[in-house]
Amino acid sequence: MRVLLVEDDPSDAHITRRMLAKAGNGSFELAHVDCLQDAIDILQTSPLEAVLLDLSLPDSPPDQTLQRIVNCGRAAPVIVLTGNDDLGIGNLAVRNGAQDFLVKGDFDGKSLARSIRYSVERHKAQADVDRLARYDQLTGLANRSTLHDRLAQLVAIGKRSTQTFAVHFVDLDYFKSVNDSLGHAAGDDVLRQSAARLKDLLRRSDTVARIGGDEFVVLQTAIADGDQAATLAAKIVDSFRAPFDLGGKEMFVGASVGTAVLADDDATADELLRNADLALYAAKANGRGACRLYDGDADKPAGPGKPAETRILRAVADGQFLFHFQPIVDAASGAVAGLEALFRWQHPVEGAHAADAFELPIESRHLTSSVTEDCIRSVCWSLVRARRCGLGAARAHINLSPGQLRGGAPAIAVASAIEATGLPGDAVVIEITESAMLSELQQALTDLRDLGCAIAIDDFGTGFASLQNLQSFPIDIIKLAPSFVSPLPDDPASREIASSVIALCRRLGMVVICEGVENADQARFLTDAGADLLQGFHVARPMPIDGLLQSIPTGPARRSA
Ligand code: C2E
Ligand code: CA
Ligand code: CA
Repeated sequence: MRVLLVEDDPSDAHITRRMLAKAGNGSFELAHVDCLQDAIDILQTSPLEAVLLDLSLPDSPPDQTLQRIVNCGRAAPVIVLTGNDDLGIGNLAVRNGAQDFLVKGDFDGKSLARSIRYSVERHKAQADVDRLARYDQLTGLANRSTLHDRLAQLVAIGKRSTQTFAVHFVDLDYFKSVNDSLGHAAGDDVLRQSAARLKDLLRRSDTVARIGGDEFVVLQTAIADGDQAATLAAKIVDSFRAPFDLGGKEMFVGASVGTAVLADDDATADELLRNADLALYAAKANGRGACRLYDGDADKPAGPGKPAETRILRAVADGQFLFHFQPIVDAASGAVAGLEALFRWQHPVEGAHAADAFELPIESRHLTSSVTEDCIRSVCWSLVRARRCGLGAARAHINLSPGQLRGGAPAIAVASAIEATGLPGDAVVIEITESAMLSELQQALTDLRDLGCAIAIDDFGTGFASLQNLQSFPIDIIKLAPSFVSPLPDDPASREIASSVIALCRRLGMVVICEGVENADQARFLTDAGADLLQGFHVARPMPIDGLLQSIPTGPARRSA
């Protein structure tokens, strides 16, 4: 163990050396200097395991000696040797970064040796904790919190400097398919190799962090302008064009990059990250394996463009979604007649988010068709499982927004899904809202119906559908909106409306589903009023297909009233 003794009193130095030689049995190699500057020089040139430090030295005021050693850049554990028997001085030393303190004349060789060993271990443990808090375990890259610190620092410096810096948001394009097809170990391998590729492209002063599953951020420092940033972004995309070697298997993963450059003095760290994120979204929307520089409003995606939304959009593009299913049961028998697929965004860290944000992204121009296709296929496969597990009569209820109907050629997607799964066309119910009852969408609905799908009007009674529409559109099912159900059974007006709508729709030959049924009284009233099917928390909450199939092992669901 190499130990440095910093001590200006020759006789103290002599005593310490003798003690340590005797107690250490040759396991300590002691170097000795008598001033602070020499100590710092040695620390910076050769690795040392520990420093024994006298605070009063000829070239440093005692209250600054420790600070200078700790801050000199080489982290070695420091044990302060004080001539003063004052506990306050010792405690202060430990608070300021020393591992231990010993009072001269009060220790022997054995306790000195023990203190050194203990300090070394404590220092290592502290470094481990520090690493855990500041670095990503898998890749060794900076983590989100380190990135934020560094970014805030760069913003502060940038405001005073002629040079600027860039934030690159890097997102892997087909990471999920590696994880899905080759497993998590292969996924981890891709992330580690990605980290190495990024580091290879950077200078020492740059920073690269992993901030989420397959999301990286690069801080490129000391650049003159956006051109230099664009050059690095293109290099990053290029470096991901080469395949990844995964235990002999070659996989193409690819990356997209969004870049923001600190341009005006008012920008904050958060704004820069958000702008890079927006640019990344724009890059992904134009096809993957692309990079894009944020240039103000032009890069903003359709919609309000808040970061949360762009994150969801990207997540959906990357397939980070799943469905929860809510049973729809026969009002009279309680048998499960349908499973409504409700979209959930599965965030890698935060878990499943509900669908509120979904309408917006799904309306977005670029993602509509491929996402719709993925969604429909995934729901159909879940229905296949449900039908095999005893829910033989259940139909899948799929919600489609006007945007999906318009842009996504849903009939083609449904046709391919039922072909792939072997389901009959009438296993699928398409739920649309009244706002989708537009003449321009009539053809899309007719196409779906030709495949055997039923069309349901969702949240009936809350939009602008006219009775005329009910006749002219190909409608099979009406879903009575929860706003009519929740005041039941006490509210007289709601009772009238519910009963009349149910009677009217049934007379027009349509099936009536009542949504948002939350208690037995509501269920009883609606059943008596002639509702065919019921859905709501009273029957069951939406849940993942596995949980649902476990809770309803065979045949009919529990009685709903
Ligand atoms: P929705 O189609 O009317 O779906 C029913 C919503 O009511 C679901 O909320 C469901 O969790 C909730 N719910 C069910 N039973 C009860 C109940 O008894 N009480 C109460 N208070 N709520 C109940 P969720 O999952 O948050 O979905 C919200 C909306 O997001 C859906 O309304 C639908 O318009 C849209 N959405 C969900 N999944 C999709 C999808 O895959 N595609 C499209 N285009 N839209 C979707
Ligand atoms: Ca619905
Ligand atoms: Ca509804």
